[in-house]
Amino acid sequence: RIPRHEFVPVAYIGAAYEDRPLPIGESETISQPYIVAAMTAAARVNPGDKALEIGTGSGYQAAILAYLGAKVYSIERNFQLADSARARLARLGFETVEVTCGDGTEGHPAAAPYQIILVTAASPEIPAPLMEQLDDGGRLVIPVGDLSHQDLKLLFKHGGQVASRFLDPCQFVPLIGRYGWPEKRDRVH
Ligand code: SAM
Repeated sequence: RIPRHEFVPVAYIGAAYEDRPLPIGESETISQPYIVAAMTAAARVNPGDKALEIGTGSGYQAAILAYLGAKVYSIERNFQLADSARARLARLGFETVEVTCGDGTEGHPAAAPYQIILVTAASPEIPAPLMEQLDDGGRLVIPVGDLSHQDLKLLFKHGGQVASRFLDPCQFVPLIGRYGWPEKRDRVH
């Protein structure tokens, strides 16, 4: 029900319904539909949930969360991607998504706490601000690992305790920011 061909560059419209990530410009990607589905299912969206997405990219994952009834705050560090996702989501009628440009590893304290936090880029560890901004009973879905391979994890916060479950192996583009990876030029290999 969410038209993925609206979220990919014209050159990739013919591949929009294949189960693979596709380039969206700025060296970034729209994620593989299987992974989007796995993250969405793990998040268990209830209508009215507040969801924070880190890594707006094309806006496709944000649109799915909004379609399922969440109020979505989505953060994208690349201002060109943020601008075009904001325009696309407005054109397609997803009024309950707010796109902000910034470092999502710091979360978005203004609207915390969140029942759902989805991180759609690869992180070396769980960014502490995101855990703090997760509501009691909240679900955090995040790929954690090195730059080439990660474990997709579901973290569930309950009564001050955090339970973690492995979901799938995955390969995401890096989460770059204060609590993620440094910029490529500053990385030590
Ligand atoms: N969820 C997106 C979609 O549905 O199209 C795909 C996300 S793409 C795999 C990862 C995105 O995370 C990129 O657009 C990248 O610019 C963004 N990103 C990386 N580090 C970030 C950070 N610290 N804060 C916000 N966005 C970040």
